[in-house]
Amino acid sequence: MSNFFSTGANANNDGFPNSGSLFPHDENNKKQDNSLDSQYKDLQLNYEQIFIEAAESIRRELENLKPENACENCTIKNCDIQKKDAFAPYPASGCKLRDWQMQVLAFLTGDYRQKLKAEYKLIMDKKNEYECNMCADCCKLAVSEYSYDQLKQRASRGDKFSADFVSVFVPYETEEEAKAVNPEYFELLNKLVEDSKIYYYHCPKLEGNLCTIYESRPDICKEYPHNPLKLLPSRCSFNEWKNSVSHHAMLLKAKVDIIGFYKQKLS
Ligand code: SF4
Ligand code: SF4
Repeated sequence: MSNFFSTGANANNDGFPNSGSLFPHDENNKKQDNSLDSQYKDLQLNYEQIFIEAAESIRRELENLKPENACENCTIKNCDIQKKDAFAPYPASGCKLRDWQMQVLAFLTGDYRQKLKAEYKLIMDKKNEYECNMCADCCKLAVSEYSYDQLKQRASRGDKFSADFVSVFVPYETEEEAKAVNPEYFELLNKLVEDSKIYYYHCPKLEGNLCTIYESRPDICKEYPHNPLKLLPSRCSFNEWKNSVSHHAMLLKAKVDIIGFYKQKLS
């Protein structure tokens, strides 16, 4: 579970829909508890169900593509395949289900993936309905799975996210310093990454709660939060957005991972 739910860290390049912290919620629950610990518990409770939901949804899509009565009039001898699903070892030629199997791969990595991307874009667009409350918690404690040197290396290799990150953030000298800034957030980040190492950063451009380079701040600041599956500080006003989309985002993430599995098996 650690990879799936790792923080993804603020200094990760948040592609579609990248790994990150996941905190599904009950969309029917009007009185949402935004405490970090509560979100973490929701995650544990809901993850398995969401993954099953994603797998079932994909299976239904693939069944729709499957030719009916594919084995009728088949002339291939000695075919004793019982479980005729997308992963069966169909004969390489002359088998309609083998053709379907290839169609499955093309569909999942083509049109279907594009559809998921479009859904993810809608999720990200919805973020524009919410406003930053200027708490500055994201400036005071940012985390990454990468050390400062690694981030600089990534930046030198052209990774824009890392370049933006090192243009403003600097590492905390000690973990104690980072923890003192936001103990609840710090503890939960540690809990989520389990045995993995994460690094803590802060931005010296912040004075009080104000950004001294606000007009020229980098894109990572303008676009924060970058991923609806990421753990946010509990005061962040974008938690409301995250809570409203996290189930859908997690479903997309599960589907993308399942597509990867199909690709690995069928390529
Ligand atoms: S540059 Fe400004 S907005 Fe970005 S992290 Fe620093 S203080 Fe925050
Ligand atoms: S933590 Fe969220 S609400 Fe607070 S300053 Fe950052 S983006 Fe704005």
